[in-house]
Amino acid sequence: MAYLNENYLKLQAGYLFPEVARRVREFCEANPEAAKGLIRCGIGDVTEPLPRAAIDAMKRAIEELGHRETFRGYGPEQGYEFLRSAIAQHDYRDRNIDIADDEIFVSDGSKCDCGYLLDILGDQNKVAVPDPVYPVYVDTNVMAGHSGLAREDGGYEGILYLACTAGNGFVPDPPAEHADLVYLCFPNNPTGTVASRKQLSRWVDYAREHEALLLFDAAYEAYISDPEIPHSIFEIPEARECAIELRSFSKNGGFTGVRCGFTVMPKSVLARTENGRRLPLHPLWQRRWSTKSNSVSYPVQRGAEALYSPEGRKEIRALIDHYMGNAKILRSAAAKDGLDVFGGVNAPYIWVKTPNGLTSWQMFDRMLRELNVVITPGAGFGAQGEGYVRISAFNSRENAEEVARRLQEL
Ligand SMILES: *Cc1c(COP(=O)(O)O)cnc(C)c1O
Repeated sequence: MAYLNENYLKLQAGYLFPEVARRVREFCEANPEAAKGLIRCGIGDVTEPLPRAAIDAMKRAIEELGHRETFRGYGPEQGYEFLRSAIAQHDYRDRNIDIADDEIFVSDGSKCDCGYLLDILGDQNKVAVPDPVYPVYVDTNVMAGHSGLAREDGGYEGILYLACTAGNGFVPDPPAEHADLVYLCFPNNPTGTVASRKQLSRWVDYAREHEALLLFDAAYEAYISDPEIPHSIFEIPEARECAIELRSFSKNGGFTGVRCGFTVMPKSVLARTENGRRLPLHPLWQRRWSTKSNSVSYPVQRGAEALYSPEGRKEIRALIDHYMGNAKILRSAAAKDGLDVFGGVNAPYIWVKTPNGLTSWQMFDRMLRELNVVITPGAGFGAQGEGYVRISAFNSRENAEEVARRLQEL
């Protein structure tokens, strides 16, 4: 009999979203009338249709595949040149960030890239993650055998958790301890907070001092409205030596179902071998894609390219304005209730302190039963998320306004 990967057995069984789904299902079965008015502000998925520019580009691309003269088979494993250069030019060089076309690697999304990246990194790395955290960073490391067993509080032995609290504005300071691999996500899911240039510089300094690697998730950069807040870790020039950036078209172009994202892997990022040689990661990443993938489908890459066209950019702007309009409505409704609210200004998530010492799940149950609104309990994102809930702004305007009305009844 074959052996299985026992690291999977370490994973916590009661995962956040299945438990949310179970409680919602039970409530709806017991209260069919209330279920009709249920509004979901839970899962972080977009709700609005795709930009027309992307739809038209994908249709044209499919038509090309239907004719002998324009048919294409396998494309380059790292992504088509047209998309890699559009990304490097518009997202980086137009903003005075030095990134070459061949430092962009197109993928089927950032969640996927989180797992793929572990292919080229050693198993000895000490991993640090923020707490609360996007669970994918942790679970992919658990699956790869980079942790010990699960603890009572939901964390894992062997992983260094960086507390994000109201005290540090939900931006963790670099720790005194050494870490080899540090995950950072700004604008942040779940807290909706952002890091200043100074705060990111301190992380880059830490990485250089400790010869650590920063994995910077910028999935929500398009939601930044404050001109002082960096959109990319590479706005700190020294980050070219110590950071990899993950980006996605999921939250700007609404591609959660289409699937496309990319990593930025500077050629200057080095990592070491067990016997002390220092080598660039770029050739390993290149090789990983050549061997394990044939990239993303051609129509999808054309759709992503179209997001950089003048129409595409305008349509993305309108989508972001829509969601951030919701965020403003939800944020002020929660604040009017006297709740402590964070985030929701440069990110589509509002992080709310539960009133009267309620636990995250008690607050979840109250909002479900009394307001018929589904939110996400903060404790599901880590021990430091206890006592908070996340309200997502991904919704129709009508639903956001209705949730704001109901919040006044809390
Ligand atoms: C939504 C999200 C992503 C994007 O994931 P995709 O796989 O590209 O859809 C990445 N990181 C975080 C923190 C997210 O919330």
